[in-house]
Amino acid sequence: MRPELLYPLFQPITSLKGVGGRVAPLIEKLAGPKVVDVLWHLPTGVIDRRHRPKVAEAVPGRIATLVLTVDEHRPPPPASRAPYRIAASDETGTLTLVFFRASRDYMMKLLPIGEQRAVSGRIEYYNDLPQMAHPDHVAPVSELAEIQTVEPVHPLTQGLTPKTLRKVVESALAAGLKVAEQTPEWLDPSVLERHGWPAWGEALRAAHHPEDEDALSLHSPARQRLAYDELLATQLALIVVRAKMRERPGRARVGDGSLRDTALAALPFDLTGAQRRALDDIAADMAKPARMLRLLQGDVGSGKTVVAWLAMLGALEAGAQAALMAPTEILARQHWTTLAPLAEAAGVRLALLTGRDKGAAREETLADLAEGRIQVLVGTHALFQADVTFRDLGLVVIDEQHRFGVDQRLGLSAKGRDADVLVMTATPIPRTLTLTMYGDMDVSCLDEKPPGRQPIETVLLSSQRLPEVVDALRRAIGGGNKVYWVCPLVEDSETLDLAAAESRYEDLRARFGGRVGLVHGRMKPAEKDSVMARFSGEGVDILVATTVIEVGVDVPAATVMVIEHAERFGLAQLHQLRGRIGRGSGKSSCLLMYQGPLGDIARERLKVIRETEDGFRIAEEDLRLRGAGEVLGTRQSGLPDFRLADLEAHADLLAMASDDAKLIVARDPDLEDERGRALRVLLYLFERDAAVRTLRSG
Ligand code: ADP
Ligand code: MG
Repeated sequence: MRPELLYPLFQPITSLKGVGGRVAPLIEKLAGPKVVDVLWHLPTGVIDRRHRPKVAEAVPGRIATLVLTVDEHRPPPPASRAPYRIAASDETGTLTLVFFRASRDYMMKLLPIGEQRAVSGRIEYYNDLPQMAHPDHVAPVSELAEIQTVEPVHPLTQGLTPKTLRKVVESALAAGLKVAEQTPEWLDPSVLERHGWPAWGEALRAAHHPEDEDALSLHSPARQRLAYDELLATQLALIVVRAKMRERPGRARVGDGSLRDTALAALPFDLTGAQRRALDDIAADMAKPARMLRLLQGDVGSGKTVVAWLAMLGALEAGAQAALMAPTEILARQHWTTLAPLAEAAGVRLALLTGRDKGAAREETLADLAEGRIQVLVGTHALFQADVTFRDLGLVVIDEQHRFGVDQRLGLSAKGRDADVLVMTATPIPRTLTLTMYGDMDVSCLDEKPPGRQPIETVLLSSQRLPEVVDALRRAIGGGNKVYWVCPLVEDSETLDLAAAESRYEDLRARFGGRVGLVHGRMKPAEKDSVMARFSGEGVDILVATTVIEVGVDVPAATVMVIEHAERFGLAQLHQLRGRIGRGSGKSSCLLMYQGPLGDIARERLKVIRETEDGFRIAEEDLRLRGAGEVLGTRQSGLPDFRLADLEAHADLLAMASDDAKLIVARDPDLEDERGRALRVLLYLFERDAAVRTLRSG
């Protein structure tokens, strides 16, 4: 349970003063649904209103706060579009306040003739006379001190005024500061001292009330402290979970090699050195009486599936069951199709379970699984469903892990009393990010591609050359090649995505008739399967697709890939897509079509893709060119969505947080001493509740 003292921060934003029915959706869109989300909504700019000149000293272009006496109202003539003007002065001169579309009544109330008012805004000169259009503040002189400050500027959304947002942020900050007063420090005093970091409450206050531009820097002590808290919470969560998984006694699983030998003999190729090394790592882990938690990292096409299969056979030899989980239906089916003949050759019972399975067939699968008649289960996240039980789940393999969250990963391994876990990722993740996503899992890397692969020729073409590309396709499919045609991703609109893909499909059908197929995310699963089957077998030579083909699909005859609007894709995504070709022995080409003119960064990114097939280099370059948040597409990647930390600016803090988290858990594994209890508050604050639950369930 979340500690009571944090409750106010996890109330809906409507509990904040000034957040009613109109404003709430805007704040939610901007920051999030809870008070704490607003607390993390930090300013990105400042307006300094401390400059307080006399009228005669007012400098054009500068923000100034003045105290003026209202002399005269000059409303525009009726039906005129001219602004409402008000002359106001101090002892050094007169300044005109200018308001467009202002009502006389309102103006009279705001600036009554003969009275003094404090006004703040940008000074302009018009016909050599000073004026100020729509002052940001007009207030009684008694409020001068409140206006004459450094004002934080927050990212806004349409329909929300800075003033309204600032009020809401202020009340979230007040809630945060109250919590801070009651919360013991979770950071080590020596850490604070070494870096000159303020206490949490102080850091919140400073981040929300920057005194100048410098205070906005991600390297300012306050911002560093806040970022570090967030990074520490993430790292601690990962390490706690992992330590707990390890603590539960695993089981030593040693197979006799019989199934693996049969399987190896049936493979039409020899394992690469990297595959053999990974399998040795895995076998050694499984033979230990502790749980395995290993990450198998390998670029597209590096041959992870075979490694997973042989690892699963090892578990079977030891008398256990194994499960392989994929992020999408297509990919789960693909694995199942690949593994089915291998299973048959090895005499292993394999089954598929996805969200599509219903009714009697599903019941039967579940019964067979519970009785142990099914030895290997392949599926999607449907494997998590509560009624799925194994007789003895010994190994869980999770493919394309970056699409699952930490919680999901835990869910499946909880189904095995002491199951070993192997996580496979195809997206080459820069080292800095591996740490964030996986904590300190053991890593095996498939850094060697299977032999005989032809390099893929990648070319950049302007979209104006589309007709030539279509002509070239005729030659390609005439020669027995298969072609992927990937349609652009239109921002945030599945409907538009689809329209683009459908219209390209119609175009190509007009040229190539029934040899063209279409797959997209909205299709019924059975339709999707049938098109994919005809593409990998007979019937379809050109497959028009939205990015649903992105992960894992394996069609060796596919040697050409056309990607429209390549400039809209992330580099990692382009690399993944391109990895669908070059899988057979034929020469492959990838045509990246772009819509000009390209900006410098876009051009450089596409150049990287053209120059190298090294996924790690691409990932590092992408990180450099775009920043961490976008490298993997935060939302779909399961990469922790950081609110305060910036993985580029705070990379050193990430490494430090990882080390500190390890030390903390080594010293106080259950987070029970005084500082441990404070750290639990930190975990809840950053919504790593799952980690705390792990601690409690022990
Ligand atoms: P990924 O790592 O992208 O999942 P796959 O496991 O799908 O890669 O393997 C890609 C292709 O390479 C498959 O067709 C697979 O049969 C083949 N393959 C795997 N290992 C080897 C090897 N050692 N030698 C030759 N081909 C291999
Ligand atoms: Mg794969």
